[in-house]
Parts: sequence; structure tokens; C-alpha cells
Amino acid sequence: MGPVGVFGGTFDPIHYGHLRSAYELLQDLALGEVRFMPCGIPPHRHQPIADGALRLAMVRAAVADQPGFVVDDRELHRAGPSYSVDTLAALREEMPDRPLCLLLGMDAFLGLPKWHRWREILQLAHVVVAHRPGWRAPDMGALGDLLAERGTARVDDLHRAAGGAIHVHAVTQLEISSTEVRALIRAGRDPRYLMPDAVGRIITASGCYAESDAHEHASRN
Ligand code: ATP
Repeated sequence: MGPVGVFGGTFDPIHYGHLRSAYELLQDLALGEVRFMPCGIPPHRHQPIADGALRLAMVRAAVADQPGFVVDDRELHRAGPSYSVDTLAALREEMPDRPLCLLLGMDAFLGLPKWHRWREILQLAHVVVAHRPGWRAPDMGALGDLLAERGTARVDDLHRAAGGAIHVHAVTQLEISSTEVRALIRAGRDPRYLMPDAVGRIITASGCYAESDAHEHASRN
């Protein structure tokens, strides 16, 4: 059984940038599975536009056909902010010896030192950083030091230990963001080919982003 990849996000909505990265990591790192975990209340950013049930439905629809992709909705059921350290601690209790890999885009990795009890994350899991367009790996500061100390180019290292390593991995660069997808929908355009059609159908049926303008501006200001 290969490592469990833990892929958290707001997924507001999920798109091919998420899905292609996860798929390449599943294959390249020989992960046993990738667990998509939509967060409840994200602690580090503006609140989601679509509610948790809809974001979960979109993630489920997006991954339904792919063996090795699974959805874990535990963060949506937890009261208070969704801290990755709590999620990883819970997974570690369920799987004491299995390697866990927290999967992050480079933008998310650069924000890691602001996360709740972030240094404990590497005691619970490996961190795998997918290159995202426009972001460079840090070579200074707390993350630069951590990369120098814990960084590994070897995929084997992610299988041999249960956690503790950082692996930066190049994935096909798709410059898609949920923010841009929502803006496009608000402008009355069709997001087709930025995400699976099944996700697009949920967006159309629910109208969840069509009238998000006022709400989105209010939550950002
Ligand atoms: P937003 O535009 O609202 O910030 P997002 O598109 O970045 O959203 P999130 O749900 O916040 O999506 O991202 C979850 C995870 O997916 C993060 O680790 C992020 O770095 C990664 N990610 C998002 N978009 C891409 C992409 N195009 N390619 C690779 N990774 C991505």
C-alpha cells in the first residue's frame, strides 16, 4: 500500500488545475490514494462562496470515475476552523504506520509558516509541493532552512518513512484558479474545459456563483 496523499482545499470550485496535479502526483509518486478534503472554515483566507455541501458535491462529481481518488469530508463536519494539523493527527491515529503526504501547491507551501502549529505537520506527514505557475521554491527564511534540512528529490523516501520529508515535484502547469473561474461565471461565460462537465452542471443547476458578486466583494474587503 503506497502513501496516502492528502489534498486539502476550498475547492470553490474544483478545477483541472487541482485534478491534473493530483493525478500526476498519484502516478509519479506511486501513491496508494489521493484523498480530497474540502475544508469547512478556511483559517487563512476569505470564506468560500459555495457552501460546504455544494463544494463537496462538486469534488465527488469530479473524482467519481478515477480509481485512487477518494473524498474525505471530515473537515466539513468539524466545528471551527479546519486546521491541517488536526486533520493529519486524526489520520495518523487511524493509520499509525502508513506514509502520509500532505499535497500542496507552491503558493500554499509559501504560506505554511502562518499555519496553526505548522512545525508539527512534518512530525505527522511528508509535505509534497507541486510546482505551480509563477511561484519559486524559497531558498531563504524558515522554509528555505526547512527545505535544506528536510528536502529530498527521492520518491523512495516518501515510501520508506511515515513522514518528515519535503519533496518538491514538477507537475504540468495549468494556470487555472477558482477565483478566475468564479469571475468568468459571474461575467456570464461558460467555464467548460476548465473543469469536468459534471462540476459545470452542478454550478449551473445551483447558480452558486452567478450572483456571488456582492458577497465576494464583501468578504474580501
Ligand atoms: P482560489 O483561486 O480561490 O485561491 P485555488 O484555485 O487556489 O483557489 P484552492 O482550493 O484554494 O484553489 O487550492 C487547493 C490546493 O490546490 C492548494 O494547495 C493550491 O496550491 C492547489 N492549486 C490550486 N490551483 C492549482 C493549479 N492550477 N495547479 C496546481 N495546484 C493548484
